[in-house]
Amino acid sequence: MPRAKKAKDEKPAAPPAPTTRVGTVALVGRPNVGKSTLLNRMLGQKVAIVSDKPQTTRMSILGIKTTPRGQIVFVDNPGIHKPLHKLNRRMMSFVHASIQTADLVCLLVDGTERFGHGDAFALDLVRPVTSPLFLLINKVDAVRKDSILLLIDKYKDLASFKEIIPISAARGTNLDVLEKLIFDNLPAAEKLYGDADVSDQSERFLLSEIIREKVLGHVSAELPWATAVVIDQVERRKAGEAGAEETGTDDEESELLDAETAGGVEETERVKDGPEEEDEGVEIRIPGIGGERPSLPPLKFPPEGNVRPKRISKEERRARPVVFIKASILVERDNHRVIIIGNRGELIKTIGIEARREIEDILEARVYLDLRVRVRPQWRDAADVLDLIEGQKTR
Ligand code: GDP
Ligand code: MG
Repeated sequence: MPRAKKAKDEKPAAPPAPTTRVGTVALVGRPNVGKSTLLNRMLGQKVAIVSDKPQTTRMSILGIKTTPRGQIVFVDNPGIHKPLHKLNRRMMSFVHASIQTADLVCLLVDGTERFGHGDAFALDLVRPVTSPLFLLINKVDAVRKDSILLLIDKYKDLASFKEIIPISAARGTNLDVLEKLIFDNLPAAEKLYGDADVSDQSERFLLSEIIREKVLGHVSAELPWATAVVIDQVERRKAGEAGAEETGTDDEESELLDAETAGGVEETERVKDGPEEEDEGVEIRIPGIGGERPSLPPLKFPPEGNVRPKRISKEERRARPVVFIKASILVERDNHRVIIIGNRGELIKTIGIEARREIEDILEARVYLDLRVRVRPQWRDAADVLDLIEGQKTR
């Protein structure tokens, strides 16, 4: 008897299921709990600036970690807080969007602090998520073990945490465990990004963040909240090209330029005042989520932690291209401007030198940084300024 023929309409074999685990992981929590420190430590690179001032992170920042197991797309976020300005409402809309779209949510808390109202507020935000929810108790390096146990006891019934993990983002404690548990909970999927992709930010955004980080390192009170940085211009010249050499090649000379710039600070209204609009709510798009594979800018990021920029020889330095950067430090009041400029321009000079050194290392160039301090009253409620600042992220 002839063998039965294969059914004509038999379906072709399904493509093999992906062997990698891939997904987005939202890092959320109150300001200053260590979200950005954790992101940087997980990547081994500084993609997000860190400071001891609250609300350092103002937008969602992607950090992509690719390993043989797959790809974790971390989404660092602004801290969870009650928004008083339009800026802060936008910051919180990043947090909401990130929580809603993530495959896994990590709520970070500060292990050195007692449970309070702010923590209850943060919990309310993550409690409704249907994706796996981890509680990360951070800063265990700075606290006794029994108080961590008390915190675990406090939190364990307040939300349905899939895992509760004590970590130290600064020291790297337990982060291998965290990485393993994240992969265990991500779906099997194809990678969203290329293996070399690190973050979604543009060069302009990275430069503005580095400058802002240096400002944050020197100011206090309300100034950290009231300061923003806008990159006005980036111009590149090859070594030897007209204009590249006459600006000088030595560190001393660029420092002199920093000093001259400091003398030239001025008060300028840069962005025209526009009509007050209703808070329009920001459209948050996380590249790669729900779309085709995005191409990310091939940026070099500095190593995480406080690493001194490496010293290079005069010859190496001379062979580097030259980059002229003009940037504005935006503040809300004239007394802010006076503080940032400092006595005889000392502070703005220091900020300029610190930022330039780090930027030179990243761009592998000789950098001339022209900083100006500009006063724009109530920019935190001005949609045009906020659009400008947010626009830097992708442009
Ligand atoms: P974020 O606002 O949640 O992003 O917090 P940051 O990452 O900017 O960190 C806030 C402050 O906490 C900074 O001064 C960090 O150095 C510090 N910090 C972060 N992680 C740790 C940690 O594991 N241990 C200690 N002792 N400090 C930490
Ligand atoms: Mg942060």
